[in-house]
Amino acid sequence: MSRHRVTLIPGDGIGPEVIEATRRILDAAGVAIEWEVCEAGASVFRKGIESGVPPETIESIRRTRVVLKGPLETPVGYGEKSANVTLRKLFETYANIRPVREYPNVKTPYSGRGIDLVVVRENVEDLYAAIEHMQTPGVAQALKLISRKGCEKVIRLAFELARAEGRRSVHCATKANILKLTEGMMKRVFEEVAREYPDIEAHHIIVDNCAHQLVKRPEQFEVIVTTNMNGDILSDLTSALIGGLGFAPSANIGDEVAIFEAVHGSAPKYAGKNVANPTAVLGSAIMMLRYLGEFQAAALIENALLVTLEDGKVLTGDVVGYDRGASTTAYAEAIIANLGRTPQTVQVRQYRPLQVPKLSRELVWTRPASRRVVGVDVFVETEQLPEELGPELERLAEGTVFRLKMVSNRGTKVYPPTGAMPDYVDHYRCRFMLRDGAGEATDADILELVRRVGSRYRWMHLEKLSEIDGSPGFTKAQGED
Ligand code: NAP
Repeated sequence: MSRHRVTLIPGDGIGPEVIEATRRILDAAGVAIEWEVCEAGASVFRKGIESGVPPETIESIRRTRVVLKGPLETPVGYGEKSANVTLRKLFETYANIRPVREYPNVKTPYSGRGIDLVVVRENVEDLYAAIEHMQTPGVAQALKLISRKGCEKVIRLAFELARAEGRRSVHCATKANILKLTEGMMKRVFEEVAREYPDIEAHHIIVDNCAHQLVKRPEQFEVIVTTNMNGDILSDLTSALIGGLGFAPSANIGDEVAIFEAVHGSAPKYAGKNVANPTAVLGSAIMMLRYLGEFQAAALIENALLVTLEDGKVLTGDVVGYDRGASTTAYAEAIIANLGRTPQTVQVRQYRPLQVPKLSRELVWTRPASRRVVGVDVFVETEQLPEELGPELERLAEGTVFRLKMVSNRGTKVYPPTGAMPDYVDHYRCRFMLRDGAGEATDADILELVRRVGSRYRWMHLEKLSEIDGSPGFTKAQGED
């Protein structure tokens, strides 16, 4: 076995205990790893490093390209961004893989159903870009940015994962029925990419139904690929199906770097008590070994874990109650003692190397055959009601290339009146479209309109409305024709 260099971040709370237990098991299994132990998280924030990740840790990761980490905390009063998110974004680990499987003697309402599935979550885009603005003092906005490239990378990875793990189907869970452009992009790219994987069944599922089906019949799923926010929620749900966060490992995969960590956090109430369940971190380390090509070592350790659970004599407090549970160290010792044994009732899956898809890292400029600016949405703040606002905007647009098409309040058309009776807020989206015969709106046309609207109203946001390859690159308001 060749020697691998891995950056090891013990982390906060229960992190150092579960990481140490895992490291001892890997050492006992004879895995040849040279660990570079590095800091990140609470202690780093307290030193005044705002990102929670010091330069030495970043340097180490650049060198090793592989990280095993414990959970990181952002202490109250320090730093605005989580060190976890910083790490994922710095190294563009675009896919978060969260497998769950039923374990022997870990009793849940689903025991016996054979749950064995993986959630593949897009890890850097979506609402987690956290681009937020107060549009008015009473109305906040978060931008949900979804790129074709981001979708393609994570979807290809999901299909490759299915192949590497001998799984037969991939579900793509989206809210494309409501968010036709953003979540819809994930669905469209999924349908395109799926054609290249005829050996894998591809299904689209609306994400809310996916949550429902996961609770009702989780055994129908093998791989679920989804956008960041959906995946965050669904994967906590799937962790709960198999016994909780103590059993949920994960891998953050990028083109260059992979970060392996438990799904759980630092569980501060158990910190320093030697009671935390290290299975989630151990499972993450097993995923890391497969990523490093150490399939035999991974199977040796996974078998020892399964035998320990199957024996059922040494189980942690989250499984049997903290008054009767084994300590973290005793549990690790039991796993070490079981190295070399094979479980009787459950099997380790056959794995092949995961082919991480290689897409060009060049900036992608998606060029349409045609594009035309056909209107503009101007967002304004006012305490007027639509019946006053609408005619006033129509007057302001006179003599410009635009006409007021409609005004909406929180997404529902309210002018011209439709009979809708929304609970108004002081934030309107005013949609102006080109008048008949006007070819294309220029920036000067838009600026003239905004100057006029701004002479009467406080505006805070503009959105150009483009037709891309002949189709509208914008959606309609509820009630808009
Ligand atoms: P948490 O640390 O995951 O703990 C929530 C609960 O999950 C615990 O109280 C415990 O449940 C159970 N649990 C988690 N890990 C366990 C383990 N190894 N063994 C046994 N039980 C375990 O979530 P949190 O309390 O919301 O977050 C605490 C801190 O961690 C926060 O600062 C948060 O920001 C951070 N965090 C970091 C990461 C990361 O580094 N990737 C992820 C999530 C959260 P019971 O109470 O039912 O026993």
